[in-house]
Amino acid sequence: MPANLTLETLKAAFEAGEIDTVLVVAPDMQGRLMGKRFHAGFFLDSGHTETHCCNYLLALDMEMNTVPGYKSAGWSQGYGDYVMKPDLATLRRLPWLPGTAMVMCDLLDHHTHEEITISPRAILKKQVNRARAMGFEPMMATELEFYLFENSYENLRDDGFGNLRPISAYNEDYHIFQTSKEEPVMRKLRNDLYAAGIPVENTKGEADSGQGEVNYRYSDAMDTADNHTIIKQAVKEIAWSMGKSVTFMAKYQTDKAGSAAHVHQSLWTLDGKPAFFDKDGDHSMSQTMKHFIAGQLEAAEEMTVFFAPYVNSYKRFCVGLFAPTKIVWSGDNRTAGFRVCGEGTKAVRVECRIPGSDVNPYLACAALLAAGLDGIERKLELEPEMKGDLYAAAGVREIPKNLRDAAAKLKSSAILRRALGDDVIDHYHHAAQWEIAETDRVVTDFELKRLLERA
Ligand code: ADP
Repeated sequence: MPANLTLETLKAAFEAGEIDTVLVVAPDMQGRLMGKRFHAGFFLDSGHTETHCCNYLLALDMEMNTVPGYKSAGWSQGYGDYVMKPDLATLRRLPWLPGTAMVMCDLLDHHTHEEITISPRAILKKQVNRARAMGFEPMMATELEFYLFENSYENLRDDGFGNLRPISAYNEDYHIFQTSKEEPVMRKLRNDLYAAGIPVENTKGEADSGQGEVNYRYSDAMDTADNHTIIKQAVKEIAWSMGKSVTFMAKYQTDKAGSAAHVHQSLWTLDGKPAFFDKDGDHSMSQTMKHFIAGQLEAAEEMTVFFAPYVNSYKRFCVGLFAPTKIVWSGDNRTAGFRVCGEGTKAVRVECRIPGSDVNPYLACAALLAAGLDGIERKLELEPEMKGDLYAAAGVREIPKNLRDAAAKLKSSAILRRALGDDVIDHYHHAAQWEIAETDRVVTDFELKRLLERA
């Protein structure tokens, strides 16, 4: 489903008084939308050609701290500008924001107009182009889980985040009655996203109190990463507009299930045939699909920083809560890191269950493609399938237990350095190191409660 505005239809909507604001945005390292709100008149006159932003936007942490040590930007270089180049194919209405449209931008060098290689869209574009050069169109979908709370963000902040009230009192996985109670938020979400040109399939309750999920139709990898990013923004904005809040933290409470962003993937030939499907193959998998999964299994530990970018993200990987702990593949088995689904149909695909809902989708999809395509190029043999309860599997690769281990794997990854480039790996390794250092220096409630009296 394409985005639903062109410059001509935007002009008509502006002249009819329907649209007065255009959000000109680009995803940052954390996968957030960053940019400016343009008056639609100015955007139509000249803003649609290009605008600028400070290059610190790809060198910040979640708190907008200017992180030292990046090669791309810093005080010593005076924090110059990037060009924000609107990708007009993404121009669309945002029905949940009155009178507003938005467009995604690519980030370009201010002087040369070359793409900024460390920017999330450029990183993904490079892998998509590589796939196309090999004769494949990568098709992907992410499934976004999150928690919805009765409280507003403002009330949560005032209460020191101590009084979180999930929208439901019980596990609401597939529940219709409980999710009927959430329809003011979720119905608007489905309909407004659909009207924004995002092909929502469904929303559903998930496996803990207050947890929900949005599914939308798979598409080419860039469209999917854009859709994921816009959906996340819409969930927050719609919930906020109704005095509620949501979180995409991978694990917001010790005893609650974590939230995931599973990534479904398939390759298609450039003339539209399913390159993963072989009706006579094991689980209907073609040789290409087997090599692709083998590449992802081999590089899974090295990619994990792109699936689990924060110290918190690793707390999701626990036994018995539908998050994977093992780097193995299995047919239709939700305890495996890589699950083969759609057996017997042209929709046969591999679902990587490792990414959490705090993921940057451009980076996760790019890393998955990098590893999968490497598996195809090297014709890697797929290891035997594992079956049963894979939480209990012994003698197999494990998902890294923490960001420190994952960052070390990323740093030494020959596969990802070759595919994504040294500058990308060094940049995102530095981001991980900063997250570790920031978390290491903070005294937590856990430490206080455990140690204050008894240490
Ligand atoms: P699950 O049982 O894991 O919830 P669903 O049937 O709900 O799986 O599908 C999950 C996602 O997979 C959806 O977003 C759907 O669009 C996507 N999907 C379906 N076919 C393909 C495909 N061939 N390639 C990639 N994604 C696909």
